[in-house]
Amino acid sequence: MTKSNLNMHKSTKILAKMDELEHEQVVFCQDKETGLKAIIAIHDSTLGPALGGTRMWNYDCEEDALNDVLRLSRGMSFKAAISGIALGGGKAVIIGDASVDKTEKLMRRFGKFVDTLAGKYITAEDVGMNTKDMEYVMMETKHVTGTPQSMGGSGDPSPVTAYGVYMGMKASAQFLWGSDKLDGKRVLVQGVGHVGEYLVKYLSDENADVFISDIDQDKLNTVSEKYNAEIIENNNILDFNMDIYAPCALGATLNTQSIDKLKCSIVCGGANNQLEFEERDSLHLKRRNIVFAPDFLVNSGGLINVYSEIKGYSREKSLEQTKNIYKTTLDILNKSRDEGITSYSAALNIAKKRIADKKNN
Ligand code: NAD
Repeated sequence: MTKSNLNMHKSTKILAKMDELEHEQVVFCQDKETGLKAIIAIHDSTLGPALGGTRMWNYDCEEDALNDVLRLSRGMSFKAAISGIALGGGKAVIIGDASVDKTEKLMRRFGKFVDTLAGKYITAEDVGMNTKDMEYVMMETKHVTGTPQSMGGSGDPSPVTAYGVYMGMKASAQFLWGSDKLDGKRVLVQGVGHVGEYLVKYLSDENADVFISDIDQDKLNTVSEKYNAEIIENNNILDFNMDIYAPCALGATLNTQSIDKLKCSIVCGGANNQLEFEERDSLHLKRRNIVFAPDFLVNSGGLINVYSEIKGYSREKSLEQTKNIYKTTLDILNKSRDEGITSYSAALNIAKKRIADKKNN
């Protein structure tokens, strides 16, 4: 294969991937001086500017980085669409080790790239980024959200995210048990980080029977003591009898093996991309009569909070809008039952329809 053929072959593959997942624009950024290598993906901007955080990760290869940014930006489109807000879906990845490769120059150069998109993409903090990094990005572009309150931003979105998950959980309980009261229900929160701990607080305030697991023993001890939650060994989750499983750590914890074993009636948590394979695993949950509250719906409180920042920030307004997750979850679960489809498909159909309707008008 000649060099030009090779290049053609590679670019065709990227366009094919964009075509498959229906991406509008993918921008590759590289800068020799700072060592920056980044990809910005705009999945869909029909509903508004494409918003999504920047993730810095030491990817094994460029293809992994590309797949990640394409998958994550697509998820952001549906999260915004289902939440009824005027945002599209985007995401950025910086290839590198956040603990050694980050410099002021690199972050500022990245900010300049973001700025070249003139607001079509709005960035925020994600894995591998911190407040200081975002300050550097903000020196080069105004298209940044989710910044600390001290910098005029909306601050940590986690309490709002947790509130939305709590609303989704109550709606799932209402759907399944005819009452949204969670007192006495056995709820396991996996991952007691930012979102998980706030969720534990809501649950213990309502006298639910709260159980927690995490890989960080210090966090476990602190949260257990604070809220009187019982610690469950991470390896024993699948043998644990519970009413509700709330994944609030990593994605893809729901797969063929785990769903076969799960002993719960509802899954509702804050983690992104909980299903290893969306169609296969949501169907498996349905066949096992486990109610699944779609992750991109119930964890959208953080995005709603950031959106409120763009409109003129008010925590009260964000919480008020996040409360709607209760009704949307209930509607989607009813739709899933009435139409005999998975709750995941029901939610995805609504999100896709909102984008399509706007496109056609
Ligand atoms: P975090 O890093 O503060 O907390 C994650 C917790 O999970 C940590 O305590 C970590 O020790 C624990 N953990 C990691 N691997 C684990 C494992 N294998 N088993 C058990 N525990 C494990 O993150 P966060 O901000 O609380 O976010 C949690 C999840 O929610 C992520 O999937 C994130 O993408 C998603 N999410 C967060 C927000 C937000 O507002 N922070 C919004 C939407 C979605």
